[in-house]
Amino acid sequence: MASQITAPRGTRDLRPEETPAWNRVESVARDLARRYAFERIETPLFERVDLFARGLGESSDAVEKEMFRVSGAKGSEEEAAPWALRPEPTAGIVRAFIEHGMHVRPGPLRLTMIGPMFRYDRPQAGRYRQFSQWDVEVIGDAGPAVDAELVELGHRFYAEVGLTDVVARLNSIGDDACRPGYRDALIEYFAAHESRLSEDSRRRLRVNPLRVLDDKELPADLADGAPRGVDHLCVACREHFDALRALLDALGVRYELDHRLVRGLDYYTRTAFEFYVAGREGQQQALGGGGRYDGLVELLGGRPSPGIGFGIGLDRTILAMDEQEVTLPVRAPLVAVLGGGDDHLMRLRVAGGLREAGVAVRPDGSSRRLGKQLESAAKAGARWAVIVGEGDVMALKDLDSGAQRDGVSIHEVVAAVSE
Ligand code: AMP
Repeated sequence: MASQITAPRGTRDLRPEETPAWNRVESVARDLARRYAFERIETPLFERVDLFARGLGESSDAVEKEMFRVSGAKGSEEEAAPWALRPEPTAGIVRAFIEHGMHVRPGPLRLTMIGPMFRYDRPQAGRYRQFSQWDVEVIGDAGPAVDAELVELGHRFYAEVGLTDVVARLNSIGDDACRPGYRDALIEYFAAHESRLSEDSRRRLRVNPLRVLDDKELPADLADGAPRGVDHLCVACREHFDALRALLDALGVRYELDHRLVRGLDYYTRTAFEFYVAGREGQQQALGGGGRYDGLVELLGGRPSPGIGFGIGLDRTILAMDEQEVTLPVRAPLVAVLGGGDDHLMRLRVAGGLREAGVAVRPDGSSRRLGKQLESAAKAGARWAVIVGEGDVMALKDLDSGAQRDGVSIHEVVAAVSE
């Protein structure tokens, strides 16, 4: 026997048993995108490395450690091509926004995408090398009302997929006016405790001191005593953050302040948020996260334009749904179309008629005995069997009760199975 080839490490197949949950989260995401007036956008799965290096920052984990590089065909000019599979959606969407001059469209632009992201990380439970996100971005709105709207939208998504106990954690990391002062305060504080920092944090301390705060190896007392972003905000950022909180409070949206929440990427400004199942905050297993990126459009060569967005991890959402034993809607009843002998044309015609009326149909393509066909129909999960006889005579059999009605028409079948 030939040796078996398995899926690459850190990737997963979604088996048919798992797809009802995926259908559910994707349809909730699409329906919410419609109700919140987002327009769909799609960008390539891979982009030039420069886009991520510039947009996300050289010192972000996504660029420094987890970039999934793509090369061109062997011997081609692009063999060592500077491309990478997208680790996150925002940089690609902002690139497209600039490239297609979307700023001339009536704004703010509300864009949405569902698709796979790639990070060359060490795989573990809830952390894959390919995973899916539902992403929303609003470009051209400085907030704070839209910030509140997105946090509320995230909450609504988790509620509508059936999760309970999801909390938003919230922080403000300031802007160009106040972040430098905050960075200096962090460097000063952590430099005094440098020997207690992890190797990663020591290396990052002077390049990106905010990242030291979300190092999971940071001792709790050091974290607790660290300067807080909210204490270093300039007047404009402070007013923005206060207004956001007032809106969330008035809307009754649940959130907790978390001064260690800095998000991993350089492009974030002001509002940063993440969603967790309550009690799971310490485990670095965010269900989703987002934030404001008021400098990103300009950084990538566009006209200055504020932006905010979030990415919800669908894999982790589904893991949480499994843990909370969320019940999924049952599948529409399936109808098997069976027949005797070689009457395949009749079976396909009847199947076609039922499908036209919206019924899900699985015709038996075999010439086996009727008893065998009934058996495999029941095993395949069919609720009903339509047995096609001579001419266009049909019988409808209820596979749960075994009751059979002879001489039925297509209309009667449709009426019976749609009840
Ligand atoms: P991030 O922008 O890194 O916060 O990612 C947004 C969301 O995507 C996270 O909250 C996770 O739910 C999900 N996510 C990020 N990385 C992974 C991964 N390696 N595997 C599965 N889900 C992930």
